[in-house]
Amino acid sequence: MQNGVPTAVPCIASLTSVPRLGDLVLRDKNHDCEGFGVHHICVRVEAVAHLPTRFGRFEVVAFWNNRDGKEHLALVHGNVLGADNVMTRLHSECLTGDALGSLRCDCRDQLAVALERLSSEPAGVLLYMRQEGRGIGLLNKIRAYALQDQGLDTVDANLALGFHDDERDYAVAAHMLASLTVRSIRLLTNNPKKVAALEAHDIRVTGRIPHVIPANEHNRFYLQTKANRSGHLMEIPPAPTVSEQDDPVLVGEADALAGG
Ligand SMILES: [Zn+2]
Ligand SMILES: [Zn+2]
Repeated sequence: MQNGVPTAVPCIASLTSVPRLGDLVLRDKNHDCEGFGVHHICVRVEAVAHLPTRFGRFEVVAFWNNRDGKEHLALVHGNVLGADNVMTRLHSECLTGDALGSLRCDCRDQLAVALERLSSEPAGVLLYMRQEGRGIGLLNKIRAYALQDQGLDTVDANLALGFHDDERDYAVAAHMLASLTVRSIRLLTNNPKKVAALEAHDIRVTGRIPHVIPANEHNRFYLQTKANRSGHLMEIPPAPTVSEQDDPVLVGEADALAGG
């Protein structure tokens, strides 16, 4: 200990390579490092299992961490152990969008398109981060929705509840990628700030791939409304909020305009 900062072995040194994903559980059994970032975040791989999905075949890797009591996941496609340039997507949990199909946001489309994209790559990872409502939690997200129903926009609603617009921290995600022994990533995002946030935690980002959401018959109205908030599409409930993924959506233009 020096000035309150642990001087233990750097995390990376203890995150040795393993031949198979399932071996990470044994490797991490007693893992305890100095941690990532100012909060000394440490994570451990606790369980690994097959997860065939409608988007393709994945392995699901479940993590424990010392910070937030949440159980974050990695969905891994192909062999990412020790790999370079692994296509990677960070997704923040959105119960209302991901599971319930809410149209107040576009999280579910972002998730589906990312998983389809990753499963078409030789190797890819989606980190499913349990940071609901941009980190403010589900209950507060619904409180913010209620304020938005009364006319506040998404940013003002969060501020009214005493939160910053974005309460997320990328140290957990960075340690998860290090735990998977991914050597470098190509990040699927429209948000350069995410790249910088990961690089600040020593994750090598070799490229950024735009995350373009093609319009389809199910979301075309929503995406058009998002593009044009003039309110003439009366079928749509009050204007959708900005993305909870903090990742401005790029809509495939030809598709979005077709058939409108
Ligand atoms: Zn650690
Ligand atoms: Zn959402």
